[in-house]
Amino acid sequence: MLAPFTAGWQTTDVNPLVIERSEGSYVYDINGKKYLDALAGLWCTSLGGNEPRLVAAATAQLNKLPFYHSFWNRTTKPALDLAKELVETFTASKMAKVFFTNSGSEANDTQVKLVWYYNNALGRPKKKKFIARAKSYHGSTLISASLSGLPPLHQNFDLPAPFVLHTDCPHYWRYHLPGETEEDFSTRLANNLENLILKEGPETIAAFIAEPVMGAGGVIPPPATYFEKASLQWLIIIMNLGMSLETYMQFLTDVTISSIIQVQAVVRKYDILFIADEVICAFGRLGTMFGCDKYNIKPDLVTLAKALSSAYVPIGAIMVSPQVTEVVYSQSNKLGTFSHGFTYTGHPVACAVANESIKLYKERNLVEKVKRISPRFQDGLKVFSDSPIVGEIRGTGLILNTIECVSKPFVDVGWGQSFETCSGNKSLMILYAGLGAYFGAQCEKHGMVVRVAGDTIMMAPPFIISPHEVDELINIYGKALKATEEKVKELKSK
Ligand code: PMP
Repeated sequence: MLAPFTAGWQTTDVNPLVIERSEGSYVYDINGKKYLDALAGLWCTSLGGNEPRLVAAATAQLNKLPFYHSFWNRTTKPALDLAKELVETFTASKMAKVFFTNSGSEANDTQVKLVWYYNNALGRPKKKKFIARAKSYHGSTLISASLSGLPPLHQNFDLPAPFVLHTDCPHYWRYHLPGETEEDFSTRLANNLENLILKEGPETIAAFIAEPVMGAGGVIPPPATYFEKASLQWLIIIMNLGMSLETYMQFLTDVTISSIIQVQAVVRKYDILFIADEVICAFGRLGTMFGCDKYNIKPDLVTLAKALSSAYVPIGAIMVSPQVTEVVYSQSNKLGTFSHGFTYTGHPVACAVANESIKLYKERNLVEKVKRISPRFQDGLKVFSDSPIVGEIRGTGLILNTIECVSKPFVDVGWGQSFETCSGNKSLMILYAGLGAYFGAQCEKHGMVVRVAGDTIMMAPPFIISPHEVDELINIYGKALKATEEKVKELKSK
């Protein structure tokens, strides 16, 4: 098998970890070894490994109607139900319509095509560029890989496409200037974004895309006031004037735009659409139903996948605001058909499973559950911050968390950079490039799978993880860290 994101395509021929079955928060390999799945598959099996309600929903739909398409104004009931449910569930800003895909990558490709169609409809053929952020992950198809801000997704593929620009990664710990507060850092980044827009020409920038919390690029929650700078002082004054919160938010984005520099306001100022890539954050991972709820993001377009079906079947989606919908609808006579879609757009089995997943999130109040168990997970891991090989332990809500292993003093060796940083020094290469991998292998040895990216260890267990399982996760983490510290000591002494 040619393995995705695998160093050297021979690896699955040599010694792959073959997973055979799953149960709750655990997966089992073909030798029967049990692993705590600290990444919920790929940040996606939010309801765990053997949820009977999802199996029943898929089975019932397979028996009734295994497939019908959604082209040419035909569709199926599960697809219609899911679209309605998504629009009602997302309340951070108003959404009107949903377009279904098979994956997050396809959904982000769809965003780009829809935004281009929208600007063509508005007679703005030059407004076609996208701004994404360094270290973001938006997928691996040609367009979504271009949007992603990770060099390994571009190198060797002649990417990014020329219409994609990247602005700063909002990682305060790595990139703040000496003495710079989180708020100052956020303001500097918003100013940089504005300068980029002005340099390129606002009339050429169509959309800005951001994950509420960056996922695969290193689990990076936004620094304070990055998306939204609603100062308490202003809030008190305005509340005293009797303004509703909604009016206040409008006031922030419209009236005080020049004095409140944050990313969201900058984007609005230049009539640039805001795309929230919620592929990892949606449905409770941050302790809120959507990442946008947590950071007061009011997007025009939203990307979904992963927990949408708890990954039991592939499905992705985009949600579209009433304004964008209205333009696309009203101008379609002029432009002709929106000639885009996939055989499996709105696949009835995938939609049935997604409908049942959302029902379960709500029925079991999993957002609250995530919020409740969060401190046990976050604080339990933060205990290890003092380790000489841990740079920063960060996370938010319950689920997103990351352990960034670096040598102190700090050396930036993130995502594929290790070999350059080490300039051919073999023992340094082993130390830095291999550190995350060594840690990951130690976790596996002790019965846990984590996400390793360069020197970064990421975890995002299923929403259903129990307190006891969180303790087990922390215990295995501690063991793997101790073993890695010893390995580093050994290599350094050579
Ligand atoms: N956006 C984000 C934020 C993601 O994390 C991912 C996948 N990790 C994608 C898009 C792409 O999704 P897929 O792998 O389903 O194409």
